[in-house]
Amino acid sequence: MSENIQQKIEALRQEIHQHNYSYYTLDEPTISDFEFDLKLKELQELELQFPEYYDSNSPTLRVGGQITKNFPTVQHQFRMYSLDNSYDFNDLEDWERRVQKTLNQPVEWVAELKFDGASISILYENGKLKEAVTRGDGFQGDEITSNVKTIPEIPLQLHGQYPDRFFMRGEIYLTQKNFQKINARRAEEGLDPFMNPRNTASGSLKMQDSAEVRRRGLSAVLYQYVGEQVPAATHWELLQQARIWGFKISDQARLCRSMEEVQQFINYWEEHRHQLGFEIDGIVIKVNELAQQRALGYTAKSPRWAMAYKYKAEKAETVLLSVSYQVGRTGAVTPVANLTPVLLAGTVVKRASLHNEDIIKKLGLHEHDHVYVEKGGEIIPKIVGVNLAKRNAENKEIEYIKNCPECGTPLQRIADQAIHFCPNELHCPPQVVGRMIHFVSRKALNIENLGSETIEQLYREKLVENPADFYALTKEQLLPLERMAEKSAQNIINGIEKSKEIPFEKVLYGIGIKHVGETVAKKLVKNFSSIDELRKATLEELVQVEDIGGKIAESITAFFANPENILMTERLRSYGVQLEKQASQNETVSQILQNKTFLFTGKLSLFTRDDAEEMVEKHGGKNISAVSKNLNYLVVGEKAGSKLKKAQELGTVTILDEQQFLDLIQK
Ligand code: AMP
Ligand code: ZN
Repeated sequence: MSENIQQKIEALRQEIHQHNYSYYTLDEPTISDFEFDLKLKELQELELQFPEYYDSNSPTLRVGGQITKNFPTVQHQFRMYSLDNSYDFNDLEDWERRVQKTLNQPVEWVAELKFDGASISILYENGKLKEAVTRGDGFQGDEITSNVKTIPEIPLQLHGQYPDRFFMRGEIYLTQKNFQKINARRAEEGLDPFMNPRNTASGSLKMQDSAEVRRRGLSAVLYQYVGEQVPAATHWELLQQARIWGFKISDQARLCRSMEEVQQFINYWEEHRHQLGFEIDGIVIKVNELAQQRALGYTAKSPRWAMAYKYKAEKAETVLLSVSYQVGRTGAVTPVANLTPVLLAGTVVKRASLHNEDIIKKLGLHEHDHVYVEKGGEIIPKIVGVNLAKRNAENKEIEYIKNCPECGTPLQRIADQAIHFCPNELHCPPQVVGRMIHFVSRKALNIENLGSETIEQLYREKLVENPADFYALTKEQLLPLERMAEKSAQNIINGIEKSKEIPFEKVLYGIGIKHVGETVAKKLVKNFSSIDELRKATLEELVQVEDIGGKIAESITAFFANPENILMTERLRSYGVQLEKQASQNETVSQILQNKTFLFTGKLSLFTRDDAEEMVEKHGGKNISAVSKNLNYLVVGEKAGSKLKKAQELGTVTILDEQQFLDLIQK
């Protein structure tokens, strides 16, 4: 029986790996997305039911869900160098001459796009993805394997004939489309937008919840093979082989026989790069022959066999009309320059971001200045300089506003960040609206049909001012709103009613306590089973909870110190919103762990910490966060540290490995 199950799981995994390969590498899907999802779901369910057949490279890991608290530092076996830069063809020809002088033989070049993202090194052993590490300082980086596994173009299992052990290097980036999607979703959730795709990509790689990473929609491209065994004589051949093994290799890379061909490649992409759908900041040129690369070697910082050619950002001159200030939904203030419209990189530009006060000061910006605008990685262009020759001496210097343009409250400045924000969280209009949008968003109270525009309207009509007000709304109040049909009004009312069933942890996330995200809310609810318990918790008690640091704890106590927030939560309670954990009956599987306390430590490999804690609860046990006399079982994974030591010293704690824990609950 169990052998059958194991075979079935293995077969499903192989099949799904094959479909991934057809889809991402061959670009020839053989089944529909729907069928694919069904297979993945089937595998997921089997794995959940039979955790003993865990595989660290199962395609279900693509879906994410692994939580990483700290990313361990890993030494790079082969250093990750920078690239030397050149900015014009003269630089490039100088480099060619240096290369020729050392080698004194014909040279071929590979020209590639210079992807603007975060670089990554991935170790493959026996065809399986073993470990993924960020570039860091080039000598060591952060291990972010579980996050990288969620990126669809990264193969978990290779195909064909590959070396036993090697590293593949490449770039993780965001397409403009997915970057805009993320920002649209952030707007729906009442959050301020991200600035540019590159920083968003590298930030995403460091998120704790890999399911969240998955949702970001990252892309990957691989451009370098590194290893002790080298199965080809040229870089170009290595790329072609890597493609056959299942790696996503750029379709734009070209083998060039001369520097003229390289220059044509550079010119072509300088003109066409805006049609790629993702950002590049230049071209990378590499000597093709590996023997020649070895002969050239490295400087202290970069290979002598490669060179980056950086595109100049496109620039235009125009006139500053005014500076306006936008207050985001989180209260952050962004200064924006309004400009005389000008054509730049194929689009008409009317506004430019000024980022913050320090940048305005550094530019020394005056009213009506003639300014240079540039389009870098950012979606909105920025002002990079002033044409002083055209400045009129009477024009006054731009002074940063002192009060919130929305509510008049004096602005505050975060000392080390140069960012101004409006502290009037509860009454500043965009913040009020942001908070309500967040409350109804999918991951919070999930009130369908209540979009941000409707909320803005309701707020303008003074029908809602905080989340509790939604529950007092009537259909009659909704009907007079613009474009509000009978049916949609009824749907909204139904959605609001239905949200009363949303579990406490999502409500806690929804009420918008600063720094209490989805994951933190879950952790809190594990330890405090009602809003009243949480409200009574002291700073000391809060920081006891796993993953809750001082900043979060302070924000929670500050929230409950404000009577308006208490009033809001009391009103939510009176309308029947869930403010305590439901002891849902069907969730409990058994009571075999009744009165027993558990703690998990070290790197777990048979299950995730969240799953493990859930299993404990389903069997009637309790999770606690520290080793003490109250602890019955400590379950240890790899590299367990101080907690294990402390438990051994206490002598009252039963220490289990992961398998023993599974045996315990399967009894
Ligand atoms: P820099 O950060 O300017 O020194 O440029 C080096 C970085 O360029 C590397 O760390 C990579 O992240 C990135 N890069 C982007 N595309 C390529 C490519 N095709 N080949 C090599 N490096 C690339
Ligand atoms: Zn304000």
